[in-house]
Amino acid sequence: MKIDHDGHMHTYLSFCCHDEKCIPTNILKKASQTGIKIVNFTDHLWERGMPGTTEPYKTDQDIDHIMQIKKMMPKDTFGVKALISCETDYLGDGHIGLSKESASMFDFVLAPTNHSLTDYYKDKGITQTKDISKNLLQRFREVLTFDVANGIAHPFLPLGYFDRGDEILNSMEASELRECFHMAREKGVSIELNTDTFATNWNRNTDAFTNSSYMRIYHIAKEANSLFHFASDAHSIEDMDLLGKMQPFVDELGIEKSDIHPTFRT
Ligand SMILES: [Zn+2]
Ligand SMILES: [Zn+2]
Repeated sequence: MKIDHDGHMHTYLSFCCHDEKCIPTNILKKASQTGIKIVNFTDHLWERGMPGTTEPYKTDQDIDHIMQIKKMMPKDTFGVKALISCETDYLGDGHIGLSKESASMFDFVLAPTNHSLTDYYKDKGITQTKDISKNLLQRFREVLTFDVANGIAHPFLPLGYFDRGDEILNSMEASELRECFHMAREKGVSIELNTDTFATNWNRNTDAFTNSSYMRIYHIAKEANSLFHFASDAHSIEDMDLLGKMQPFVDELGIEKSDIHPTFRT
């Protein structure tokens, strides 16, 4: 199928987005020009009062902050459906950035499990490839138990460890991956096909992190009957072009409309 939605997109409300032009009007306009029919606005969110962090960089991106998007939304959305959602965070050890009660305020909740891995592994003394890969699998299963996520953002992406990206991803057994994907499928949670996970898209195509390791994982996800959504994870208007570059991989995986999470079926 043709990529026709963007399930993960940041605006200027996310502190890590430095493109002032990255506001709903410009994003929706560009989406309409490139054949995108649904845009899911997923700014970073840590709900005030949720245990796990007191870092202002996280806690200041609270619900009030990211809900400012409602006021920024244009009346004319250029024929594109706009969803007001969020990308919360899972820090490990049971610390998630959004409560189940508040999750219902959003059209779709994305939960990543792999931001700030380097600090966590340093704290815990985790250095071995096999242990990192085990922990990434564990985090995936853990985050599902909160029943907060509708989709898993950039699943298993070894952020901070691209110098041994393939090694980490390839040491995940197919049976372990299948178990994760079956668990997600049972809960109706979508697996994200994120531009970030394709090394060539982000010029990360070193010998140590190549597209093949993610294609193996996504093939296993497809065989496990997973639900999927597409994601630019754009932090600038320019980044939105990355979505189209993922089309050959989507074709190779044989993703069809029936594989897409119902929220994004057009
Ligand atoms: Zn993320
Ligand atoms: Zn993101």
